[in-house]
Amino acid sequence: MLDVLIVGGGPVGLFLGCLLARRGLDVRVLERRRARSGHSRAVGIHPPALHAFEELGLVQPFLEAGVPIPGGVVLGPGGVIGELSFHAASPRYPFILSLPQRETEEVLERRLADLAPGTLRRGVEVRALRDEGPHVSVTGREGGREQTLHARLVVGADGTRSTVRDLAGIAFPGGTYADKYLMGDFPDTTAFGPLAAICLTGEGVVESFPLPGHRRRWVVRTEALLDGAGAVDLAALVRERTGLHLPAGDCSMLSAFEVRHHLARRMVAGRVLLVGDAAHEVSPIGGQGMNLGWLDAAALAPRLEEVLSGAPGARAALLRYERRRRRLARLATRQAEFNMAFGRPAGGAARRVREGVLRGLLAPPVQPLLARAFTMRWGAAGGGETRCPES
Ligand SMILES: Cc1cc2nc3c(=O)[nH]c(=O)nc-3n(C[C@H](O)[C@H](O)[C@H](O)COP(=O)(O)OP(=O)(O)OC[C@H]3O[C@@H](n4cnc5c(N)ncnc54)[C@H](O)[C@@H]3O)c2cc1C
Repeated sequence: MLDVLIVGGGPVGLFLGCLLARRGLDVRVLERRRARSGHSRAVGIHPPALHAFEELGLVQPFLEAGVPIPGGVVLGPGGVIGELSFHAASPRYPFILSLPQRETEEVLERRLADLAPGTLRRGVEVRALRDEGPHVSVTGREGGREQTLHARLVVGADGTRSTVRDLAGIAFPGGTYADKYLMGDFPDTTAFGPLAAICLTGEGVVESFPLPGHRRRWVVRTEALLDGAGAVDLAALVRERTGLHLPAGDCSMLSAFEVRHHLARRMVAGRVLLVGDAAHEVSPIGGQGMNLGWLDAAALAPRLEEVLSGAPGARAALLRYERRRRRLARLATRQAEFNMAFGRPAGGAARRVREGVLRGLLAPPVQPLLARAFTMRWGAAGGGETRCPES
């Protein structure tokens, strides 16, 4: 009988596994993929997540692997609109750390193996679960064989198409935005250095972020989903809109994507709980989804320990977890919508109004508030360090 069974070994399931293993709980993480996905999605690690990593000794490995982004520059057709510094966003981590998701998962997987070898089981796809009252039975398929495990609590960290959420009968209402994007990673041939660059053009936004190894990620808003596009097409869009040249022949990742928002009606259903994308899907424009999931995990780990030890009020605390995390997911969704709105095509008077608003937001004294919002420190208006926005 396990204490906690986590379904999904993505960044959120791995981090929760580390937190629970460190507390001495008997935990297992089941992941259907035999190897880590090569596709690089998230790159931004925000200060509250770095704070949450402290208790696991994870900050150093992350700082060694990633590159800090201390701020960004916002450009329009007429030149620089303003700059945003993350200096005031967090005294300890005044930056967003950039690291491709695949490498982020590697760091977390290594830590989990150090804390509790054998906790992560790859190649097991969960297909059924049954709440038996005092525990939950979970059936998975591994290489054609079915096996059933028993756990006192089960956490679905199995992403937006969560099987656990479906099996627990939890609705996941939401929708798809009209905005589409094309993104790719290239050697950094710009003069932006460590800064992010947001270019607001009449045809739609072009965003670019430093990556480790002197590379940069480029994200371009498109009118349609450019599924069959190549690196040459992305380079052409960037050149047309900004005049900047990308070395298309050295593209290491290319992806066209559309963006959605969903929020699970519940994150707690008896002995089954949800974290990360299984609970909330947020548009990646602004880079919050993975961080939101980590902060779910940081908030949930002590609550699970309380439930397992039979602490008084533990169930009520779980419901508070659900309320707060759903509220913060809605906040992140609104912020992503704000980011997307600023990146839409705009010409003439609409563009001048947008640039005027942005100049106001990027001017002191508003800028520190914007910097905190962009680094997911919504609860830290007073400048003091908060462990995570939830706690
Ligand atoms: C283009 C793009 C850019 C992004 N950029 C950022 C960013 O900069 N910052 C940020 O914070 N977020 C970003 N995100 C969002 C981020 O990628 C997700 O929020 C994050 O991956 C969620 O992590 P997760 O562990 O909850 O789910 P996932 O990463 O989806 O992991 C779920 C895991 O569960 C496994 N699984 C699923 N079903 C089963 C099953 N039945 N049995 C066993 N295993 C199962 C899957 O194989 C997978 O490994 C971006 C997303 C995209 C698409």
